[in-house]
Amino acid sequence: MEQATCQQSSCGPDNTALKLKVGKIKHTFVVMSGKGGVGKSTVAVNLALSLSMHGLRTGILDVDIHGPSVPKMLGLAQEKVIVGGNEIIPHEVFNGLKVVSMGFMLNNSEDAVIVRGPAKAGIIRQFIENVAWGDLDCLVVDCPPGTGDEPLSVVQLLSTGRASAIIVTTPQQMATIDVEKSITFCRKLDLPITGIIENMSGYICPHCQAESDIFSSGGGYKLSQKFDVPYLGAIPLDAGIVKCGDEERPYLQSYPKTETSTRFDEIVERLKAIYLDLQHTEKSGSCCDGSNVQGCTGGGSCCS
Ligand code: ADP
Repeated sequence: MEQATCQQSSCGPDNTALKLKVGKIKHTFVVMSGKGGVGKSTVAVNLALSLSMHGLRTGILDVDIHGPSVPKMLGLAQEKVIVGGNEIIPHEVFNGLKVVSMGFMLNNSEDAVIVRGPAKAGIIRQFIENVAWGDLDCLVVDCPPGTGDEPLSVVQLLSTGRASAIIVTTPQQMATIDVEKSITFCRKLDLPITGIIENMSGYICPHCQAESDIFSSGGGYKLSQKFDVPYLGAIPLDAGIVKCGDEERPYLQSYPKTETSTRFDEIVERLKAIYLDLQHTEKSGSCCDGSNVQGCTGGGSCCS
């Protein structure tokens, strides 16, 4: 039997609340990787912290539903979700970095979240629509590895022209092959790519400061050339990152003056410049739902 398809727009989901929330976020950096274990969450957490330390109102949203690691990396592993009114209130750390993660919903860190497809999309929607994010300059989204439901939902929910991807890879060829899939994913979904970061790139000896290429280096840069995508920089292998991970502290807070933190800082300076440039471009006219409509000054017919 032929299935009836309702043509009434009123039958679709009401996106008003979602659009209002998204409209208050000036830019979203979606942090992705082709593979697990390349340091994507480490990079996402430290970038968010650094953006916040650079004076931008910043949030980090951990949409790794099955393996949330952001709370642990920020020393929030014991924290639970806070609800105020009808909204989730983000945890705030280090002078105002706002944090939301599936990890806050779990009773125990070993609990397994068993959801798939549409349910995941629903959870991620709530993490944007039902959270008191307030006005943010930057939202950093930490996605699970690969090109599955989570990054897809994020991109669809934030499809306002104010989101872009940051792709994290390690230098080895095996990792960069998977990153190519992430690049294809972004291109298929029209998500601009802010750039590639090569993590675990070389090793700087903490004693003599000499740099050696344990895992080789340069794979991320080569990839950026091959696909004509910006290269944002490299973060070295650093025993301090492992130590901080184990001690549940963010690296940049514990080691603000190392070569690794300088590298993070240089990347964030680039991100900040990109963010400011985007804000400048957007002044050409942005719609009240956050989308960039040429010539719209808000409140016009396209906004009703
Ligand atoms: P992913 O999110 O890609 O799965 P994580 O950020 O959880 O990866 O990192 C995996 C492991 O690698 C963690 O133990 C983390 O401390 C470590 N790690 C990440 N980046 C570095 C680095 N640059 N130097 C040393 N260890 C790192």
